[in-house]
Amino acid sequence: MSSKDWLEKDFYAVLGVDKAASADDIKKAYRKVARESHPDHNPGDAKAEERFKAASEAYNVLSDAGRRREYDEMRSLFGSGAFRRNARGGGQPGGVPFDVSDLFGGGAAGGGDRRFGGAGFQDLFSSIFSGGQGAGQAAPRGPARGRDVETEVALDFGDAVRGVTLPLTLRAPGVCDTCHGNGAKPGTQPRTCPVCHGAGVTTRNQGSFSFSEPCRNCQGVGTVVEEKCPECHGSGGVTKTRTMNVRFPAGVADGQRIRLAGRGEPGERGGPAGDLFVHVKVRPDELFGRTGDDLTLTVPVTFAEAVLGTDLRVPTLDGAVTLRVPPGTPSGRVLRARGKGVVRRDGEAGDLLVTLDVVVPARLSDEARTALEAFAEQSPPAAREHLDARVRRVS
Ligand SMILES: [Zn+2]
Ligand SMILES: [Zn+2]
Repeated sequence: MSSKDWLEKDFYAVLGVDKAASADDIKKAYRKVARESHPDHNPGDAKAEERFKAASEAYNVLSDAGRRREYDEMRSLFGSGAFRRNARGGGQPGGVPFDVSDLFGGGAAGGGDRRFGGAGFQDLFSSIFSGGQGAGQAAPRGPARGRDVETEVALDFGDAVRGVTLPLTLRAPGVCDTCHGNGAKPGTQPRTCPVCHGAGVTTRNQGSFSFSEPCRNCQGVGTVVEEKCPECHGSGGVTKTRTMNVRFPAGVADGQRIRLAGRGEPGERGGPAGDLFVHVKVRPDELFGRTGDDLTLTVPVTFAEAVLGTDLRVPTLDGAVTLRVPPGTPSGRVLRARGKGVVRRDGEAGDLLVTLDVVVPARLSDEARTALEAFAEQSPPAAREHLDARVRRVS
């Protein structure tokens, strides 16, 4: 086969695969086309036979790694000007569309178009030696501000009350450092897409109308990467991890959103950074609850303690306090330990609110039962005459 043949034939399109297709994909695609167009299944169909031959020819070249490389190189060297697409539609859109122009402010996508232009040696080599990513061709505009970042943090109850500094790890998309975002293996360069010649769009004529659509061969980027960057697998983007220490002020509450100015994504080319918004979740404590700046605690007491009065030792978030339960305290009474709540920014603190819960024992020892029966005989009746009166009236 002559070089001229190679230039005029798009073997990838014949098989309906992406230029970056793996050897396996190429084999699968070939088998499919061959099966569909096999002369045995399409007797007398000249078109099918032609397709079958074209697929065999394409597979012949693309299945051999050495010949495939030669073919790719030849087409990228001479292809843009002379190359004519010979087959149905475009390549299969493969992979995730990734708009490199997002990363570089619109430069990269169209860059190849201008650089490769007529696709002569001159242009090709100047593009190699300029080391450009296409960003040089970007239309001038102010450095873009970095994006705002939102994240969520779960704090321990005590940490939220007292305030805490925590290392926060953020994962966010960033430009691949290995290939600087162009997706090509270091030492190689993305090539102008042979289908759209770098424009990123293809035009289809139908009668007197023409339609433009994003190039399916390069997903609209304008360049194709033949040897993919091992770090980002050709996408040009990687997920970056960033760790910073964030101070959560004392008294931060569940559901609160903290804004940290300038701690979001860095701006492009020296632009200001975005903000970081941290949504705070506070894990519940096994003992304490919280209402505003007050902490709450429920303390079980016996009937005797409530009746006779007692001194209770109760825990606070930091230490313990003694609370006086006066004789005759009803169940549900709330006692207040002043200043044992959440310390606010102005230095003042909320209180610890202790709710007394009189516990009724489910089981009694014989001695306790005997004592209680003796108590019952001596005990004044419960104050429910008003209810008894109503009961008499309605029954
Ligand atoms: Zn293209
Ligand atoms: Zn990369």
